[in-house]
Formats: sequence, C-alpha cells, structure tokens
Amino acid sequence: MEKQQKIGLDVSLLDTDQARKMEPSLSEKILGSTFSPLDGQVNPILLTFAFISAAKKLGTEVLTHIEITGIELKSGKVRSIITAKGEIETDIIINATGAYAARIGKLIDLDIPIKPRRGQILVTEAAPQILRRGLLSAGYIAAKFDPSLAETQGVGISMDQTSSGNLLLGSTREFVGFDKRTTYEGINNILKNTSRIIPQLKNMHIIRSFAGLRPYTPDGLPILGKVQGIEGFIMAAGHEGDGMALSPITGELIAELIDTGETSISLDHFRLERFFTTSQ
Ligand SMILES: Cc1cc2nc3c(=O)[nH]c(=O)nc-3n(C[C@H](O)[C@H](O)[C@H](O)COP(=O)(O)OP(=O)(O)OC[C@H]3O[C@@H](n4cnc5c(N)ncnc54)[C@H](O)[C@@H]3O)c2cc1C
Repeated sequence: MEKQQKIGLDVSLLDTDQARKMEPSLSEKILGSTFSPLDGQVNPILLTFAFISAAKKLGTEVLTHIEITGIELKSGKVRSIITAKGEIETDIIINATGAYAARIGKLIDLDIPIKPRRGQILVTEAAPQILRRGLLSAGYIAAKFDPSLAETQGVGISMDQTSSGNLLLGSTREFVGFDKRTTYEGINNILKNTSRIIPQLKNMHIIRSFAGLRPYTPDGLPILGKVQGIEGFIMAAGHEGDGMALSPITGELIAELIDTGETSISLDHFRLERFFTTSQ
C-alpha cells in the first residue's frame, strides 16, 4: 500500500469492520483490506471491439482469422509478412500476439521469453448484488510487485460481479503450455479459496468455467518497443495478468514511437534486450 501511495494512488487501509461495511458479504474472518476508489471494471470483449471500431474510424483495415506464418527481412529490415492468405508488404510489424509472441519471434530467430500462464475462471448463476466492487486477494496484489510470490501460490483470487449479476471467480496461475482446458483441481481450488472470503458462494451454482493464457515474462513487466538489429520490428506483448488495464497506455506509447520515434514515458525498462546476457 505504501508503494502504491508513493506513486500517488489513492489507497487506504481498512480494518475488518470497515471492510465489511463496504462489502457486507465478506467473511467475518477477514483481517482487513486495502481500498482504492480508483479501481474499475471493464468487459474485455467489449473493450476489444471498441478499440477495433475506433481504429476503423481512423482508416485501419482489420483482417481476422488470418495466421501469420512468416516474416521477410531484407538487410536487417522488415520487408513483409507472410500470411495464410498471401504476402503483405510492410516496413513495420508490431508483435502484439500475447502468449504467442515467442512463436512470432521464432519466425525471425529471435528469442522472446514470453510463455503462456493459464488462468481458469468460473462463472456463477446470476444473483442479486453480492459484491459492490471487484475484490482481489492480498497475495494477488503482492505478486504484482514480486512475481516470484505468484509462482509458489498457484491461485490468486479475484472476484467480480458483472452487470447481469453473474459472478466471475478466478483464477489459477499455471504453466501448462498452450493447454486452455479447465481442470477439476483448478475449479476446486478456486471454489475453496473464494468461498472462504465470501461464504455465501457455497450455496451458489457454477454455470460455466473457462481458461485463458496470460503472456508471462520472467520479471513481470511487458516487452515494449523497438528490437535492436531488426529495423521495423516492434514489441507490444507480455502484459501477463494486466493486459486489459495496460492496453490504452500500451497503444498510446507504441503509436507515439511509430509516429515520432520517441515516447512520453521512457521504454528503457521494457526493452527486449534486458533479457539478453552477454557472454563474457
Ligand atoms: C483468467 C485471466 C484473468 C485475467 N484478468 C485480467 C484482469 O483482471 N485485468 C487485466 O488487465 N488483464 C487480465 N488478464 C490478462 C489479459 O487478458 C491479457 O494480458 C491480455 O489479453 C493480453 O492481450 P494481448 O493483446 O497482448 O494478447 P491476446 O489477447 O492473447 O491477443 C493476441 C492475439 O494474437 C493472435 N495471434 C497469435 N498468434 C498469431 C499468428 N501467428 N498470426 C495472427 N494472429 C496471431 C491471437 O489469435 C490473439 O488474438 C487476465 C487473463 C486471464 C487468462
């Protein structure tokens, strides 16, 4: 909390009573909580469509369901991309393929240390208001400051109630390659942990479960910006569990970089080259 306050975020500490006053469904065993009025919620699918529609208004042509299978370089510069439906000439490629970014890197023999980290999520039946705002477990938040904590934890709890009344309960953190199946163990783990915090969940029906792949990087930071030695190849991937929240700022910075060659926030900490070791 102190770290967050230091960078100017409005975050405060609540004791058990204060926390339960704000969220009456919380278990009385809760020790306390942090609270930020800045927290918000978006529907990631609607957000993605909103970005696409805004881009189209600016003249962007959007092609879907076309796999990129190759990249042509000429004298260290991007020349074209090869797709399942033909070649497209370009001098700029932005690798924004999330958990698949390393596969795109391989097309030009570039090592990108992004791997998929599976997250399973449960959806409950719709119910009258149980949660007034999104809840995250302390472990989940701590893991954002120290990614090694997440590795030992397995599950970082997040709970939200959507506008239609369904609750979203998540999520696991697993390295299982590109496997997007849900598992009995994962579902059980989420239920055990979330119903400790909101006991009322024990009486609710789960109507659906699904899993997605977060683009994990070893230091928990995304990989953004130009790549040394390959002119025109730009990285915008590796946002792990924050890719929705970070999507507007990522888009803005990458657009600035392409437009002007500079960015209003330095991308030095996010360069791919931070993972390269020199052999000396
Ligand atoms: C369970 C779970 C909970 C999450 N909760 C949150 C949250 O609360 N807040 C938050 O901010 N983030 C959250 N995230 C993380 C967020 O979903 C990701 O960080 C984000 O989706 C990454 O966006 P992206 O555009 O980089 O990659 P993606 O959304 O994965 O998009 C990559 C795209 O690249 C395409 N692609 C891949 N390879 C190719 C190819 N060869 N040719 C053409 N296209 C290709 C894919 O089809 C895909 O459409 C969560 C993730 C999970 C799994």
